[in-house]
Amino acid sequence: MSRDTFVRWLEDLSGDDTDAVGGKSANLGELADLDVPVLPGFTTTASAYDYYVEATGIHSEIKSQLDGLDVDDVSDLQRRGERIRRTISEASMPPELESAILERYAELGDEIDIEDPEVAVRSSATAEDLPEASFAGQQETFLNVAGETELIESIKHCFASLFTDRAIVYRENNDFDHFDVKLACTVQKMGRADLASSGVLFTLDPDTGFEDVVVIEAAYGFGEPIVQGVVDPDRYVVFKPTNGIVEKQLGGKTQRMVRRNGGTKLESVPEAAREEFALSDERIRELATYATRIEEHFETPQDIEWLVDGDLEELFVVQARPETVHGAATENVLRTYSLTETAEELLDGVAIGSAIATGPVRILEDHRQMDLVEEGDVLVTEMTDPDWVPVMKKASAIVTDRGGKTSHAAIVSRELGIPAIVRAGDATDVLSDGTTVTVDCSTDTGRVYEGALEYEVTEEEIDDLPETETEVKLVLGDPDRAFALANLPVDGVGLAREEFIVTSHVGHHPLALLSRGEESQFVDALRTGIAKIGAAFYPDEVIFRLSDFKTDEYRNLTGGPPYEPEEDNPMLGWRGASRYYDETFREAFRLECEALRQVREDVGLDNVIVMVPFCRTPEEGQRVLDLLAEFGLSQEEMDIYVMAELPSNIVLADRFAELFDGFSIGSNDLTQLTLGVDRNSEQLAPLFDETNDAVKRSITSLIEDAHRHDRPVGICGDAPSTIPEYTEFLLEAGIDSISVSPDVAIETLLTVAEFES
Ligand code: PEP
Ligand code: MG
Repeated sequence: MSRDTFVRWLEDLSGDDTDAVGGKSANLGELADLDVPVLPGFTTTASAYDYYVEATGIHSEIKSQLDGLDVDDVSDLQRRGERIRRTISEASMPPELESAILERYAELGDEIDIEDPEVAVRSSATAEDLPEASFAGQQETFLNVAGETELIESIKHCFASLFTDRAIVYRENNDFDHFDVKLACTVQKMGRADLASSGVLFTLDPDTGFEDVVVIEAAYGFGEPIVQGVVDPDRYVVFKPTNGIVEKQLGGKTQRMVRRNGGTKLESVPEAAREEFALSDERIRELATYATRIEEHFETPQDIEWLVDGDLEELFVVQARPETVHGAATENVLRTYSLTETAEELLDGVAIGSAIATGPVRILEDHRQMDLVEEGDVLVTEMTDPDWVPVMKKASAIVTDRGGKTSHAAIVSRELGIPAIVRAGDATDVLSDGTTVTVDCSTDTGRVYEGALEYEVTEEEIDDLPETETEVKLVLGDPDRAFALANLPVDGVGLAREEFIVTSHVGHHPLALLSRGEESQFVDALRTGIAKIGAAFYPDEVIFRLSDFKTDEYRNLTGGPPYEPEEDNPMLGWRGASRYYDETFREAFRLECEALRQVREDVGLDNVIVMVPFCRTPEEGQRVLDLLAEFGLSQEEMDIYVMAELPSNIVLADRFAELFDGFSIGSNDLTQLTLGVDRNSEQLAPLFDETNDAVKRSITSLIEDAHRHDRPVGICGDAPSTIPEYTEFLLEAGIDSISVSPDVAIETLLTVAEFES
């Protein structure tokens, strides 16, 4: 009999071997077949199990114990089950089988250069006819098994676990022959994540269902506390088409699970290690490559557990299974929630989902207090685990003190479509039982407000929309909304305002950071913000507009005041292009350019191009173009647009057209400056009118001049988003693209389609 009859290397198996080695071993073989690294190991075969049962002569003993079994008689079942398991585990391993297993074990030790390596022994049943979910977890796992004697004992116990009481009942109730199911044992080197790191990943963004990214959570030590949300992990987002890293968020990682005295325990992570990312960029990209490969192979989004083995200093995929939340159906209704009033904010945390809900607070310490929860309550608790699901189903919203984006509370809330705020600090102390609150997850930061606030829900069907010749794009500067909006049928983003990204993701004045040598903080955060928007709409064009803060706005950034003059008219002041080449600001401008250069070159998002705002003269335009080229952004590599928002841009359109690759009309500033109406003045608000002929003629004339020079013209000011008829005027004037806010994108598309038909 060949040794392969009894034992097989995992790497030699494939998904077709389920009958021979059971589902678990075959799946690991399938991964190895894809050149995805799995922890080294072997499996015993179904034939080995059969041989064991036959050669030891225990078959008839098992059979006689099962004869006349009444599964409803629990004590009889327990008695018989116990006896069968004892019969199996106490039989002596036949010598041929034992030597086949021990030879493989020795070879495994040789291969990884560890004598008597610690292994995990897991059961792999050949129950392919049984629904996976109902069979999974019915057999045992033995961890940290070392040495020949312990290995053989574990394998015998593993065999015996085919006859747990639950498994017996399941087979009886479903008319499965007890001897048709075989048990193979997967024997794999123990993954030493306790010496390195581990985590989970999804091959899509679990919050929005955006499919072009891999989202990885990583921390030190074994993965269990990461899955449970006890440890606050790092979070990395990788863009699949370029394998570029879009985002890296440093997690707290205060604790890690390690081995201690044969068991595990949580220990504190040294301060210096917490400040570092758990994975290098190289590892992040390597992991994303495997994740994408697995997803492509199984043709459905995956939820993957992985680890870095500290002994072998290698990355391994431990488990891959279909992602159940977003994997199945794609929603073609876009629901957008927004609060229409506000009240005192009670606390905040990480928002899960994007909905808003209201209800009375119900604080629970234990899921067994479930009866206290009424349908529609806002469930507030420290943390949840699977026992909480029935309670969570009754809630209108969930707030937990602890947990992360893939913690139990988060995953279940997403699946149930219930807004949840996790890691909300001391929610169980701050909120009081019985008081009504509003839970708002419509932005990235989830917030709890006092009282039942009014909110709006808009629904957009995004199926079967017509293609239009005039492009419809988004105005979108909030990176946190980008993935959720990625499925809108638009032609990219016509305006991503840098100011939005800086305010939400940086918060500090660039010159203040430069003076402290912390410029990378600015570059990294800005790069992440741009990359998220760029990735969401790739390969459609995303126009990133360079900074156009006014001095009063810049002063509001942390550390801003010393760098910003007090101006009487910031609207007409030191803003836009004029700042870039100013010696006092030039270095800050270099940082903006560097962030974009990294997005294009390092993340690979060359769909992101640049636009210059508030450019007063062609001479100024030339200086900025020279500077852009000096900082690595040249017109040889990408189009550079200019905003048309000053009367000088209109009057000298021919000269601007010689310099820039295209125009985008800023109807806000253009109206302000054409009519001489401060756009911030409440008193003059009625005079601020984009439909005034002076503004409209400027637009018409710009389009004519630009087209004469073969330059495209878009619009990114607010006019078409707020004045429905404006779109028609623009179309008649021959505009090439219209950018609007997301809430009116579909409406605008329909208007354009109708005009063109
Ligand atoms: C505009 O002026 O119309 C424009 C889009 O720019 P901002 O509103 O940022 O000044
Ligand atoms: Mg403007």
